[in-house]
Amino acid sequence: MLVLHRKELPPIGTWAYCLVAPERKEAVVIDAPEGAYTWASQLAQSAGCQISALLLTHGHWDHTLDAYAFAAAGIAVYAHRDDQILIENPAVMSDFAMPGMEMKPTRVTHWVEGGQSIELLGQSFAVRHVPGHCPGNVLFYDSVASRAFVGDVIFCGSVGRFDLPGGDFATLQHSIRSEVYSLPEGTVLLPGHGPETTVAAEKADNPYVRP
Ligand SMILES: [Zn+2]
Ligand SMILES: [Zn+2]
Repeated sequence: MLVLHRKELPPIGTWAYCLVAPERKEAVVIDAPEGAYTWASQLAQSAGCQISALLLTHGHWDHTLDAYAFAAAGIAVYAHRDDQILIENPAVMSDFAMPGMEMKPTRVTHWVEGGQSIELLGQSFAVRHVPGHCPGNVLFYDSVASRAFVGDVIFCGSVGRFDLPGGDFATLQHSIRSEVYSLPEGTVLLPGHGPETTVAAEKADNPYVRP
């Protein structure tokens, strides 16, 4: 049984998630806003666990600022290759970052693709590619717990920005219809910002993308 922890972190309120499997002494972190490494390390340590992986939903700096610290600690880093440049050379987005912010490059160890399953914490996580907000946005779907870590593709009652480099509304709509709305209705969606929601709730009420 996995225990889910979450913390909203600076500088713009991005969720970091941490899944802990105490009996396996293993933890996995999803996204790395500022302070995520210290938060997750303390959490893992107090549960007697080692962090085995950092999963990045996409390469925007508010999700990757702390990724270098996980990599420096020898933790496997998973991401989609379409965001390789954002993660390995974050300075390309400095026009869209905050003045003076230090964005350190991170070396990804595991490139993931849509349709793939990754084995962590003694179970599978399905990877779905959901571009439109960011070219390499992926969601990680845990069918055992019926939840998906979706990054910034969809939010409670809203959708991700599509005006940043590599963003496109038609692509975003297609990703949401084909890869998010096709998940089981009861699936809890854990986005990069704001409250959690469900597939059923967004199919019923999301004003930006109708099923
Ligand atoms: Zn983003
Ligand atoms: Zn974000």
